[in-house]
Amino acid sequence: MSASKTPHPIGQHALPAQQIVQVAVPLPIRQKGPFAYDYIVPKGLRVTVGMIVEIPLGKRQIWGIVIADTPSGDVAADKLKEIISLADLPALSRSHLSFLSQVSDWTMAPFGMVMRMMLSTPKAHLPPPTCVINALGDADKMPSGKRTPKRERVLDFLAEGHAMSAADLAKETGTSQAVIKAMAEQGFLKKLTITKEANLAYQMPKQEAESYNLVELTPSQKDVSQGISAFLNKGFSAHLLDGVTGSGKTEVYFELVAKMMAEKKQLLILLPEIALTAAWQTRFEARFGQKPLIWHSSVSSAKRRKLWRACLAGEPVIVVGARSALFLPFSNLGLIIVDEEHEPSFKQEDMVIYHARDMAVMRAHIESLPIVMATATPSLESWVNAGQTPLSVKPARYHHWQLLHRVGESTLPDIQMIDLKKDRPSAGRWLSDPLLQAMSECLGADQQVLLFLNRRGYAPLSICEACGHKAKCNACDSWLVTHRLSASRQCHHCGYRQPLRNQCDSCGEKDQMRAYGPGVERLAEEVALLFPEARVAILSSDTAANPEVAAELIRAISDKEIDIVIGTQMAAKGHHFPHLTLVGVVDADFGLQGGDLRAAERTYQMLSQASGRAGRAAEKGVAYLQSYEPDNAVFHALSSGNRDAFLGLETQMRQAASMPPFGRLAAVILSGVDEGQVEAQAKLLASQRPQYKDVLIFGPTPAPIARIRGRYRMRFLIRAPRGVNLQEILSEWLDKQRIPSQIFMQIDIDPYSFM
Ligand code: ADP
Ligand code: ZN
Repeated sequence: MSASKTPHPIGQHALPAQQIVQVAVPLPIRQKGPFAYDYIVPKGLRVTVGMIVEIPLGKRQIWGIVIADTPSGDVAADKLKEIISLADLPALSRSHLSFLSQVSDWTMAPFGMVMRMMLSTPKAHLPPPTCVINALGDADKMPSGKRTPKRERVLDFLAEGHAMSAADLAKETGTSQAVIKAMAEQGFLKKLTITKEANLAYQMPKQEAESYNLVELTPSQKDVSQGISAFLNKGFSAHLLDGVTGSGKTEVYFELVAKMMAEKKQLLILLPEIALTAAWQTRFEARFGQKPLIWHSSVSSAKRRKLWRACLAGEPVIVVGARSALFLPFSNLGLIIVDEEHEPSFKQEDMVIYHARDMAVMRAHIESLPIVMATATPSLESWVNAGQTPLSVKPARYHHWQLLHRVGESTLPDIQMIDLKKDRPSAGRWLSDPLLQAMSECLGADQQVLLFLNRRGYAPLSICEACGHKAKCNACDSWLVTHRLSASRQCHHCGYRQPLRNQCDSCGEKDQMRAYGPGVERLAEEVALLFPEARVAILSSDTAANPEVAAELIRAISDKEIDIVIGTQMAAKGHHFPHLTLVGVVDADFGLQGGDLRAAERTYQMLSQASGRAGRAAEKGVAYLQSYEPDNAVFHALSSGNRDAFLGLETQMRQAASMPPFGRLAAVILSGVDEGQVEAQAKLLASQRPQYKDVLIFGPTPAPIARIRGRYRMRFLIRAPRGVNLQEILSEWLDKQRIPSQIFMQIDIDPYSFM
């Protein structure tokens, strides 16, 4: 430190013409608001808030975002470093910055991490890569002595207006690159530098798109569509589009898409499982005469980069994406649609833990936009927000729009219970007599069957008959699941797999490992035995590992090349299988075990989705649910079709227990490889827990799955009344803690997983 310890009075006195700005850096440092450093703007540059800039940080050069055009003054001006360069991009809007910062405040994830999600597209903010192409140069100057047939071919080809790389040109004209090179050096060809992506196909919406291939809306669809349309371009509004499966919700929101397209606005449509949406994409294309722009992690990085920049440039893109699409830098967004708003997969469980639906509502609010959330089985949160129970907060935050009937002749399936206590399948079998009977009749009538079982693989548990050893994962507290198709035993928590052997790991006996419990593969075995003629397919993330394979399998089912589909939740969602009339739910009780806060709600949603696959065309559908407790309220609601009564009951129970959305929850999870260290840290945190009258902090307890990937996990659960600022309480408790680097602390606001 020099003699002058007092910081420079920044600005006017010491360094007149020098601009100093605050740049947020993508570091995982948690504090309220963005974590930023001051940087000097080099002379001659003008920097404004929202610009993406390259800065030195320690020995590295990284990219950050300018969040204030005045210094914080934390560090003396003569100690500051200069910005290295500016991204060749428009600045992010204030509202986008404010969105990122509010996501960080809400989730309590460091701003730097939220920012990293936004900038995660590979090199999106760098200038596009360039390449050199060859075009026609001074060809007339070529002396006739130098005109070989090969050279002639090149010149003729380029004269048609082509320009391309030496390699491509050589291929097109049947010459070598050496020939091209020599011609260029002599000036007969001209070299041009272009950005590589100039060639990347990127469709802009067609002018006439909004009138493409229209369907005539039914009167009730029209009412809803016009009702919501009245809110377009009028600031923030939130809409719950609540309609039974097959009522035409998609058709209704396509109307809104068409309207916004006509105004050249950007649109964002969030879908829960983008890999399964081939049919949705085909339908979009049929309706609008163009493909939507897909955003998820397996889209090529060149395409994502281009889309990212198009969003920031305000081009009228229609983006369909998984939850991460919410962080794209749209600058001209007109509408957000969240389809299947109740889907748990909108919750991201690692890194920044956030719920994409809730953050989408936040973004719509910040950017003054309408947001439409579509579902056949609303989440309790949205249901309460739509003012639909006497217990709801008034006035309602969401507008509620209903479509009560399926389109055309099709009606909702009958749902019937099978009591497994009375009709118990024999040992090692999973299908009861009444279900088998119904399957025979269905197949006899030349229709399709779906058996729904939400368990991948062959069997969830293997035990050695000789010594009682259970096949376990070494890194997690979980059993290994037997997979016959891939001849392996797998851990569904960490992905560990070992070859399937029939020797016990513990006692070494051979042929003593027995499988317990059903998985879809085992069910397929039973079905093959009982219906040897039937064509059977398994639809799970193992058999439909990528979008192409999934699309082909779904097509085969739709085209009736399969008689019996055995599927996990992958088969339950969204698909339209016109010949499918019978759904059998093998283990309807599955989701009710474990006593999770949302167990009943999720079971209801999943089973009504699964049942909803039956009878989507002219033929009436029926669903059978096999259960050991057929009198459970969830099943009553399903079989009587009284969804609202169920939601009402569920709402009352949540309120009585002060559970969300009537109370607030958060979880704090500590994990580390050293069990003792995790425990000690948890105890230390516990000893410093703040005391509030109405805020309860439970724990620490070992997480239900106490070890995952070799890391021990302890959890706290915090419950507070609705009006309490939970984040503030957590931050008061946790911000001052010095957590050792071997221990990872996660905060989960409004947890969906309690594992
Ligand atoms: P949801 O999204 O509510 O499940 P969809 O929009 O997928 O319903 O509609 C179900 C089926 O009915 C689709 O095949 C769709 O093309 C068709 N459909 C919807 N609305 C109409 C309409 N107004 N006229 C004709 N067919 C329609
Ligand atoms: Zn594991």
